[in-house]
Amino acid sequence: VKIRILPPWWRSYWIMVLYGLMVLAFLIAIDRVRAGHHSSRSRELERLVTERTLELEASREQLRIRATYDALTGLMNRAAILLALEAEMNRSRREHKPLIVALADLDHFKRVNDTCGHLFGDEVLRQFGSALSSAIRPYDHAGRYGGEEFLIILADIPADSADRRLADLHTRISNVAVPGPEGEFSVTCSIGAVAYDPLTQPCEPVVLLDVADQALYEAKAQGRNCIVRRDADTFHTPRTSLTPPQSFPTRS
Ligand code: GH3
Ligand code: MG
Ligand code: MG
Repeated sequence: VKIRILPPWWRSYWIMVLYGLMVLAFLIAIDRVRAGHHSSRSRELERLVTERTLELEASREQLRIRATYDALTGLMNRAAILLALEAEMNRSRREHKPLIVALADLDHFKRVNDTCGHLFGDEVLRQFGSALSSAIRPYDHAGRYGGEEFLIILADIPADSADRRLADLHTRISNVAVPGPEGEFSVTCSIGAVAYDPLTQPCEPVVLLDVADQALYEAKAQGRNCIVRRDADTFHTPRTSLTPPQSFPTRS
């Protein structure tokens, strides 16, 4: 008699196959969960990288703005306006178009601070800056050159219309009314300007700055609230080395 002893059902062949399949399904499920976890982590990382890149770009833009513009008046700062002067002189040479470089200085500004306070003085500078930026054309440039001194570049102005253009500018920026603690207050300004013709005056930015500075001194000596214009002198030697810094902020 042949006796065949069968294993209990839980150790039968088909149950073993089922166990194997269950283990396989379990491993596949774990793998799926891990892959899902990985892809959600990499999505999260991508989101973080995008966020950080945007933050970096925003702070770079803020740095560029701080390095280019004067915080009080919103005009270009000294380094940026000197860079603009260099660029405009190059353009003027390339396109044979004359330009005017002017220095505008507020008259007796110290008195404003002394009588109305520095905060009011700041407000006058702010209003002057705003009058100046609306008095120039989109392709002209204006920047704060020093405390209460502003550098203005008027592009493409022929010599015969230079005086009219400067007079018009002066009318618009001198006597800007600022409401003060004791009624309206206005400050005049003096302008020292130099006309530059690239065809007859092949000179450097520092020469124009020096001639404009001398013209400004003359305007002050003539009683202030006026304009003195000079022509750039090719043989002029600047009184001091005014070479602008080499580390200008880059213009976008
Ligand atoms: P002048 O007509 O000869 O130019 O006389 P001034 O008084 O304008 O010139 P001065 O150089 O004697 O004085 C300039 C004053 O400008 C002194 C300084 O305190 C003031 N100043 C410079 N920068 C600022 C600023 O950012 N805010 C304020 N409130 N005052 C400033
Ligand atoms: Mg002054
Ligand atoms: Mg001054």
